Amino acid sequence: MIYNIHHLHCGTMCPACAPLIHQKGIQAHIICHCLLVETDRGLVLIDTGLGLQDYLHPQQRLGSLIHQLGQIELNTGLSAVQQIQQLGLNPKDVQHIFVTHLDFDHAGGISDFPQATVHVLASEFNTTQSLSFKNRIRYKTNQFKQHRFWNFIEHTQTERWFNLEKVTGLPLFQDEILMIPLLGHSAGHAGIAIKQAEGWILFCGDAYFSSLELDASKQLKGLHLFESILAYDNKMRLHNLKQLQSLAQQQPQIELICAHDLQEFIRYRPLS
Ligand SMILES: [Zn+2]
Repeated sequence: MIYNIHHLHCGTMCPACAPLIHQKGIQAHIICHCLLVETDRGLVLIDTGLGLQDYLHPQQRLGSLIHQLGQIELNTGLSAVQQIQQLGLNPKDVQHIFVTHLDFDHAGGISDFPQATVHVLASEFNTTQSLSFKNRIRYKTNQFKQHRFWNFIEHTQTERWFNLEKVTGLPLFQDEILMIPLLGHSAGHAGIAIKQAEGWILFCGDAYFSSLELDASKQLKGLHLFESILAYDNKMRLHNLKQLQSLAQQQPQIELICAHDLQEFIRYRPLS
């Protein structure tokens, strides 16, 4: 049973790539949008943004390349763990974490919740273990290598969910929280669908970066270049983006949210 959904802003990055992602100026403003869901099975985090240790020891955790190029705002108040305390809730009540993928800006908070079970597609976790040059930049395994409780989800068993697929055999939340494989940005990237009183929220992680992309008629060359450079499989990414574009058009009861769009975030909450 889902009682409440909070929108958390768990990181700000300002790399010098604003024109590429259709923002004004030179420094982009990229946020890390995460969700905190209050349920009858405790608190559930959807993505974790950057964590306390990333803010305290950015060089060690993220390496100097990310630290310098990312221009990360070092503010421990943005960690999910401190925001949960601010809300008057207990971080120890976080029982489950669903991650869209394990890039450093999504997995950093895992270590702040050692008691929680992390649900992730197995193909995503497996990729973090083979560290090619590109993987070494995007995945910082020291963010989560000590974590003990994992649920590695195979996505061979799926069922139709609107024009996408949902992973079956995830009985924890009685079909109120679903994993929707949205492969492409990374090897095992997934969206997380959360049932609301009416309709759904589909948290799409990095399956798109700006809500402008949900309109197929928009020409966003810079953004598409940026995303294709980051992508593990660009063909698959484009296929899934197309599916999300038709979902946005045809199913108004589904709220689509991605991880990094400031405009989407302020629809729910002003930036503090
Ligand atoms: Zn990201």
